[in-house]
Formats: sequence, structure tokens, C-alpha cells
Amino acid sequence: MKPFLVDTHCHLHFPAYDADREQVLERMNEKNIWALTIGTAIGNARNAIKLAESTEGIWATVGLHPSHTTSDHVDTDEGEVHEHDLTVEGLVALARSSKKVVAIGEAGLDFYRLPEEREAAIQKQEKVFRTHIEAAKQLDLPLVVHCRDALSRLAEILEETGYAKGVVHSFTGTWEEAKPLLDLGMHIAVNGIATFPLRKGKDPSTAINETIKRIPVERLLVETDAPWLAPNTYRGKRNEPSYVEEVAKHAAHVRGVTLEEIAKQTTENARALFLI
Ligand SMILES: [Zn+2]
Ligand SMILES: [Zn+2]
Repeated sequence: MKPFLVDTHCHLHFPAYDADREQVLERMNEKNIWALTIGTAIGNARNAIKLAESTEGIWATVGLHPSHTTSDHVDTDEGEVHEHDLTVEGLVALARSSKKVVAIGEAGLDFYRLPEEREAAIQKQEKVFRTHIEAAKQLDLPLVVHCRDALSRLAEILEETGYAKGVVHSFTGTWEEAKPLLDLGMHIAVNGIATFPLRKGKDPSTAINETIKRIPVERLLVETDAPWLAPNTYRGKRNEPSYVEEVAKHAAHVRGVTLEEIAKQTTENARALFLI
């Protein structure tokens, strides 16, 4: 059966769901929602694969989040993250270990929170990102890209490597920032941030709503980034994939179309990109 919506970015294998994962999956089932559970390091990507292998409607990705390349910071929310050195061969082998791995990432650039050795950290992130791009190229899989405060550099790297197949997730940028990425061929995924109430002045949700309005509809994807960033209706609570409906409702409202239309289109987009 076709899904109603696809949450293209969540972390359902994280310990945040250990106590009640069955119920979370049940709520997704009731709404007929599929999801990609995104690995942020090699250790937890293995858990993502395990969950995808044992659950219908769940797919996995393998990658190393840029913030984990440059710090020894361990976020217990994510399970194990200590693998700093990864290789193209290692990524390719892990991706090939299961038919349910449908993308490489999350990987990318995060210049928002860098350690003191800024330049070295940026170099390291770029090197690790290129490793992911090379693996994705070899496998012909899409990339799941995380990018914070580095959108123009991202566009440069994607253009230079000639591999711009995939999605820039948790997008909050302006139309001017989105345009070069779309021109290269990337998809853009939006999440609960777009539903946050508008504030005065320079407000990220104003920019993202303008972007949502203008993205060619065949490049738009929806996601939750659960367990973080619950949409406004559930703000402050743990997020979960079934709340992706709120994101789709919001996108429908901004574009002036029905929820059904946005659901149908973004689901088709997700299925075509990830071949699910
Ligand atoms: Zn991310
Ligand atoms: Zn993520």
C-alpha cells in the first residue's frame, strides 16, 4: 500500500524511543506514515539498519554527522558516536550490508558550533563530507545533507564534485540560498521549524516560508528530525514521525493547496528519490 506521508528524516533508532518505540510505530501505522531513520555515526547507523530490517515502512541511512567529526562531545541521546575516521570503503560496505539502506548521510557541514581550532575543524568536516559524496557516487545513492551556516560552501562542494543527488535536510534558508542548491539538482526538506510562530525582525521562519512557497513542488520533501524540533502544536515535547503531518499541513497552508495535494506530491518525491 502507498504511504500517506514519508518522514524523510528522523532518528527512530535513538535511545529516546527505547521505552515506547512500539507505540510510536503504531501511531505511524495508524496514519500510514513511512520514515527514514538516519544514522549520525557508524555505531548508531548499525542500529538504524537493524530497526529498518525488522520494520515495514522504515528505511535506514548510514553516515557521520559533521559535528561528530570535530569534537569528542558524546551526546547520549544518539547512542554511540566515537568513530571519527571513516573511509569510502567502510561506508560502501555498511551501505551494502542491507537492502534497506537507501541513502548516505547524514553528512555535511556545520559551521554553527565549531571548536577553537576553527580552520582545522572546517577542513576535517569537508574531508569527511567528500568521503560521503564519494561513497554515494559509487553506490549511486542519494545524499542526506546536514548544513548549518555553510550553505554557499555546500553549493560549491556539490558543484565541484559533480554529485548533487539528494536532499538538504532541516532547511531554514532564504530563497537566495535555496536557489543554487535547487539549480544543482538537490531536493529540500523542511520540518517543524517552519511551523514556529513568527517573531519580529530577522526571523528564520519568515525566510523558510518564502522558500517553501517558491520551491518547485517536485523538489519539496517533509521531515520531522525527531526526536528534536517538534512542530508548534507539540512544541517542547519529544517529536515523532507521525507529527510530520503537521509539517505537511503547514506547507500546504503556505502554498495555498490542500494537505492531500502536498502529501501526495511529497510522498511521490520521496519515493522517487530514495527508491522506496
Ligand atoms: Zn541534521
Ligand atoms: Zn538528523
